Amino acid sequence: PFEVLVVGGGPAGAAAAIYTARKGIRTGVVAERFGGQVLDTMAIENFVSVPYTEGPKLAAHLEQHVREYEVDLMNLQKAAKLIPAKVAGGLHEVVLENGASLKSRTIILSTGARWRQMNVPGEDQYKNKGVAYCPHCDGPLFKGKRVAVIGGGNSGVEAAIDLAGIVAHVTLIEYDSELRADAVLQRKLATLPNVRIVTSALTTQVHGDGEKVTGLSYKDRNSDAHHDVDLEGIFVQIGLIPNTEWLHGAVGLTPRGEIEVDHRGETSQPGIFAAGDATTVPYKQIVIAMGEGSKAGLSAFDYMIRTEPA
Ligand code: FAD
Repeated sequence: PFEVLVVGGGPAGAAAAIYTARKGIRTGVVAERFGGQVLDTMAIENFVSVPYTEGPKLAAHLEQHVREYEVDLMNLQKAAKLIPAKVAGGLHEVVLENGASLKSRTIILSTGARWRQMNVPGEDQYKNKGVAYCPHCDGPLFKGKRVAVIGGGNSGVEAAIDLAGIVAHVTLIEYDSELRADAVLQRKLATLPNVRIVTSALTTQVHGDGEKVTGLSYKDRNSDAHHDVDLEGIFVQIGLIPNTEWLHGAVGLTPRGEIEVDHRGETSQPGIFAAGDATTVPYKQIVIAMGEGSKAGLSAFDYMIRTEPA
């Protein structure tokens, strides 16, 4: 069996594995797709101390760093079930989709999250070419340009307020007849001169010139009329879904599916830790995922040296 089994190979899982392997404990990593969301990212300008890099390059560096150590890296393997140990110090079990079973004294869950998509024509084609999901990451790329934010919940309204300070103009598009964000955010939004709010609107298409986004179309749900908006960027803020469907009943999750962790990264089950976008820790970012992964790795090591094997 492993001493530490990391499930998920994004920035959080890679950091966790590096930290535990450096302690000399037997570490395995299972990843559906090593690299995680970083593989889907182009420009990265907020990876502290690296002013500019690109996702595939950072993912390759992550793998290279993990492979510096004796880590058993099982890529292209999906975990389907977690069975926590029945007794303190016992072995936890992870069952893979292919039926194989892996046992380990500690587990680090770092399966990340995925942005909900609009699923409209043009969205996929112009991803990273105007269609963006992370205002903290990509906001500055649209300095002085026109953008739309799709979604009037807390994250959409926060994004609109944030972007309004950087870009020339923001159109906020909400499907419902009213915004769903907290009142304090809505009040703040209403004071901004360069924001237009459109409610009861269904985005129907992303337009581009083959290279980048040039606009979007939406349907007014009251009149069925179609409208076009010319712009350079579209921030989709309709939900970030944690990849934790397979963990129901095994560890404590919030109603939104985020893994509940304490300040040491431990879940509701002793010896099972979690880190990164899959958890309740706010601000889903690469440096934060790496920090949390390192912390979970150190916590797993601490658990190992304090807990007698059952
Ligand atoms: P992830 O990167 O999501 O990795 C999860 C890992 O778990 C993957 O290896 C996945 O295959 C695996 N996995 C999932 N389910 C299973 C399973 N059942 N079994 C086994 N493995 C599983 N952040 C920044 O800081 N700067 C940026 O510029 C930036 N730009 C971004 C641009 C885009 C388009 C996107 C989508 C995100 C961006 N982010 C950016 C956010 C950043 O990528 C995430 O915060 C970060 O990758 C989270 O790391 P993680 O390790 O928690 O999860």
